[in-house]
Amino acid sequence: MHELRAIADMILENDGFTLIAHVSPDGDTLGSSLAMYAILSRLGKRAQIQCEQRLPVVYGFLPYTNTILRPRESEPYENVITLDCAAPDRLGICLPTLEGAVRTANIDHHLTNTRFAQLNYVDASASATGEIVFQLAGLLNVPMDQEIAGCLYVAISTDTGNFAYANTTPETMRIAAKLMETGIDIAQINQSTYHSLPLKRVKLMGHVLNDMQVFADGKIGVACVTWPEMQRRCTSGEDADGIINYVRDVDTVEVAIFIRGVPNGSFKVSLRSKGKVDVARIAHAFDGGGHVRAAGCTLVGTMADVKNTMVDAAIAALEELGNAD
Ligand code: 5GP
Ligand code: MN
Repeated sequence: MHELRAIADMILENDGFTLIAHVSPDGDTLGSSLAMYAILSRLGKRAQIQCEQRLPVVYGFLPYTNTILRPRESEPYENVITLDCAAPDRLGICLPTLEGAVRTANIDHHLTNTRFAQLNYVDASASATGEIVFQLAGLLNVPMDQEIAGCLYVAISTDTGNFAYANTTPETMRIAAKLMETGIDIAQINQSTYHSLPLKRVKLMGHVLNDMQVFADGKIGVACVTWPEMQRRCTSGEDADGIINYVRDVDTVEVAIFIRGVPNGSFKVSLRSKGKVDVARIAHAFDGGGHVRAAGCTLVGTMADVKNTMVDAAIAALEELGNAD
């Protein structure tokens, strides 16, 4: 905890903070950054958030989203705090902001975190970076209010599969209860976060899942979508979020793989495991990372090459388990 205290002191002793959310931002990095922005505002500190991508539409209901800027639109503040970023490459085009800062802090919950900042607080037992930001608010004596609580609720809910995955701990539930005690409307938050999808997104999901394949007696499930296909459907990366959950949901599947083309011609790979296989290890072998049950990496080549490479890696991981039995 003393490193988090050091980060709290860095915040109290300075002014002007750039908070950095990771590339392809998810609910945890965004909810944590927006909550951190609110906390800094309550302390009278100037702050802004940087992210390589624009805010996914689904998170438009959160407060302070107008403070999320591209690096070229933002102020050159001296202090940088990264949230939910496991490695420098997760900062994307915001990496020079970290490199140019006077003081840097890294708040994260990925076991694979490379501790790239001056101050690093990495708690792999936290279900989400949002849990750590909750603790930090306490250290800073900033009272929970509905704005901060709503952001943290989204951060924790999205990283725990809405409090369903194995990373959900009693502490996660205690924090969620404290967030609820501020009076936030969790039914409304859940509706906005999970049940307000554009039609094109649901149709993309249907199309992609219809072509899903299985390998290794059904233990490996693979779904793919090319960038031209996403363009044809007027969809973007965020519209593909969540498709992998349905691949993982197939009863026989131990390892789920979802591959989507991105505009620069490379492929973003998402991996999920039901628990036996450590997919962070697989992702790490391809310069990616993540958690045991949820990880990702980016590959270049053709879709067919990427698919073969990932399926082979998953088969190897399953075979290793077989040998260990
Ligand atoms: P998703 O598949 O939802 O994009 O990511 C699942 C998990 O893997 C998240 O915890 C995310 O931070 C991590 N992850 C995804 N892609 C990458 C990557 O390219 N590099 C690293 N280090 N982690 C990733
Ligand atoms: Mn996270």
